Amino acid sequence: MKLFQTTIYLLSSIVILCILTTSCFPTKRIINSSVEESIQIAQQDHEQIISKLKSNDKHIQQESKNIVEKPIQITAQKSEQIPKKLKSTEKFIISQFGENTIHKSNSTFGSQTILNACWTKTQLIGKLKEKKIQRHKSNLIRRIIPDQNKKIVALTFDLCERTKERTGYDAAIVNYLREHGVKATFYTGGKWMHSHPDKTMQLMADPQFEIGNHAWTHGNMRVLEKLEGKEMEEQILWTQGKYQVLRNELSQKCNVSENEMVNIPQIPMTFRFPYGTCGTKSLQALANFGLPTIQWDVVTADPSRKQSAKAIARTVLHNVKPGSIIISHANGRGYNTAKALPLFIPELRKRGYQFMTVSELLNSGQAVTANTCYELKPGDNKKYDRLFGKGTE
Ligand SMILES: [Zn+2]
Repeated sequence: MKLFQTTIYLLSSIVILCILTTSCFPTKRIINSSVEESIQIAQQDHEQIISKLKSNDKHIQQESKNIVEKPIQITAQKSEQIPKKLKSTEKFIISQFGENTIHKSNSTFGSQTILNACWTKTQLIGKLKEKKIQRHKSNLIRRIIPDQNKKIVALTFDLCERTKERTGYDAAIVNYLREHGVKATFYTGGKWMHSHPDKTMQLMADPQFEIGNHAWTHGNMRVLEKLEGKEMEEQILWTQGKYQVLRNELSQKCNVSENEMVNIPQIPMTFRFPYGTCGTKSLQALANFGLPTIQWDVVTADPSRKQSAKAIARTVLHNVKPGSIIISHANGRGYNTAKALPLFIPELRKRGYQFMTVSELLNSGQAVTANTCYELKPGDNKKYDRLFGKGTE
């Protein structure tokens, strides 16, 4: 009986305190927070309440302790509830999550338990901006025109590897980017991922970096698309598959939950043609696979030993514009690239440029597309078919 009275006393105290301080209604500030943050905030709220109660009654103290220690997780989930003032679309979506749907346990399909365990209600509801449809005249992107002419740029580094070679990992490049907080995208060959699994997982996990698909063994798609068989498709899909295998390995190796993996894309989101060559069929195949193909508008020419660090920096600084995509190499074939980075990155920052990954760049403006693949002018890469053939050897 004593405990019942205590509980009633405690609950009514909390209600009064809530009314006085509104500290029990942290929904608004929690809505965009992660679950961890929510738990932290919920804990702070509880502690605040308890400290304000400051009762000498032993039972109240015990009950207070229970509230602080036990139901943090529950409170955090409750705090994730939706704020009252919702836009009409969100209201509609919430109406789709009615009681019957949420609490139904005898469904023939799926698992409500898994759904609840992996996503909060807020995450399931999604965001209005996700409805946006992006249309490009073609799937072949050279740069973007940024919204509000923002000074943004994407650095890209290719990690190419053919059948009979094991190419390198240019640590000096990655270390510089990490040290100076510069975002970048690595176009990674599937075979490169296979021979550098640990480095691939490091790049994958790093919040500064994104991985794109650069074909399995650097196949020349313009030649492969004319051949019988599935070699062209395999170059693309094996690489997507290898990425997924390593992504799973990353999650197991580091023993992290899928919640922690949520910002690491399930598959590479964009593709770069080896040798920068393509044809109608390969462009169509990539469009069918849902992969935008990313070229460039600034060529560092870093696979040439003659291209000095100063020349690379000069080329970048002379040609860069808002929305540019810069191509270089981080597989050992960017001979002077690492030395060039300190010569142009601080200068670009001084000019007000911000570095983004390719996917971030694509979300920040209108894509500038082309109908054919070229280095700097249409028709300027025809020699590669003669020089490299299928490109994989
Ligand atoms: Zn390449």
